Amino acid sequence: MLKSPIYQDILVSFNLMKTKILEKLQEYSYFIWLILLVFMAVFVTYFYDSNKKKQIYFLQKSLSNIYLKKSINTFTSKLKPRYIEINYKVKKGDNFENIIDNIKLPLSEKEKFLTTVKKQKEIKSLKQNQHIYFKIDRKNNIKLIKFKIEVSKKKDVEFVRNGDLNKFSSKIIEKNLNRVLLFKEGIIENSLYNTAIKLGIKPNTIIEFARLYGFQVDFQRDIWKGDSFQIIYEQFENDDKSLIESGDIIFSNLNIQGNDLNLYKFKLGENEIDYFDENGKSMKKTLMKTPINGARLSSPFGKRKHPILGFTKMHTGTDFAAPTGTPIMASGDGVITRAQWCGGGGNCVKIKHNSVYQTVYAHMSKFGRGIKKGVRVKQGQIIGYVGSTGLSTGPHLHYEVIENGRKINSQKLKLPSGRTLKGKQRNKFEVNKIKIDVLKSELIAGLN
Ligand SMILES: [Zn+2]
Repeated sequence: MLKSPIYQDILVSFNLMKTKILEKLQEYSYFIWLILLVFMAVFVTYFYDSNKKKQIYFLQKSLSNIYLKKSINTFTSKLKPRYIEINYKVKKGDNFENIIDNIKLPLSEKEKFLTTVKKQKEIKSLKQNQHIYFKIDRKNNIKLIKFKIEVSKKKDVEFVRNGDLNKFSSKIIEKNLNRVLLFKEGIIENSLYNTAIKLGIKPNTIIEFARLYGFQVDFQRDIWKGDSFQIIYEQFENDDKSLIESGDIIFSNLNIQGNDLNLYKFKLGENEIDYFDENGKSMKKTLMKTPINGARLSSPFGKRKHPILGFTKMHTGTDFAAPTGTPIMASGDGVITRAQWCGGGGNCVKIKHNSVYQTVYAHMSKFGRGIKKGVRVKQGQIIGYVGSTGLSTGPHLHYEVIENGRKINSQKLKLPSGRTLKGKQRNKFEVNKIKIDVLKSELIAGLN
């Protein structure tokens, strides 16, 4: 068969095109390989991802297995002690409802406590500094197995649960403690605590002493060797001194570098006591500049290079370096508006003090007992402990003060000092002060 010239032409041009395409393909071969490689990579990642998802799914499925859950639970619960004991000291404004509310117990247990307490005639209203003891059993269903309420320094009422029954039997324990007034004075050698212990002052009284001065004295930085203190305090003891309970501080003086800081106990109302200096002025300020004791200011408020993020950023708080576990105090009275994980801030607490001031405490290792949203706190109450959670390079407290919604420098805070007694109350205080001064000279005379 004869091929027409046109057909020949087409064939030639077709062959020419084929070789050209082949040449081009050779020229771009590396490019084609590259595309192929990309496809392979995408496929492999996809396969790996879906496989991982499947693995996670199976892991979750086996973790939600009820038997495994149970064995994990028993495994971890054995690491905790079975019984919890709580020694609570009644604060101003407390009632049985809010005290039991801050203890981790099932609602039915809380109700049982309240009805039991209300039935007992010996127990009337609560007084500041009164002691309450709780013992909780965590085995199976968490329950209250014992509690003790101090009625007076002469007696306690003890409630014990009757086996598995839901009732408590109560008995009165006679303590017959006598009130003893003690006067101690000392020159601080290495620390206030050690000097006070050497003088025979009980730890509870020393802690109370430190708390009273905590608003204006930093015991780590302000106290020097040779500074001195005086203290008059009450202690409750039984006849053979086998039982000793600490009572209130009546008077205290801290002499720092020649300056006297006197504090007199004064009863303001039926259940309220406070401490005032010789001019009837309370040491308490609305907010504390440093809500932590024995810490070092490690980073001030202002512009700085962020230690983790690297770039320059406004530091909207003040950092205090302190060992993990150091207690952090509520800077003032208020309501907790946040006690949770907050990202870069780690475990953090926010308190609303009034319509003007709020404070924030960040990077905590853990929260204080009963600290949660909605809970009322007192100035100086422990709300958490120093840690390094969130965006943090080491254990420290990040403390923020918010004034009318704006973050301000807590160290430059000009806060109104606590109240000053006036009028009738001031007159009563002056009489009380003279009485305490007389008592002091008698106690000192008794020493000689
Ligand atoms: Zn900070």
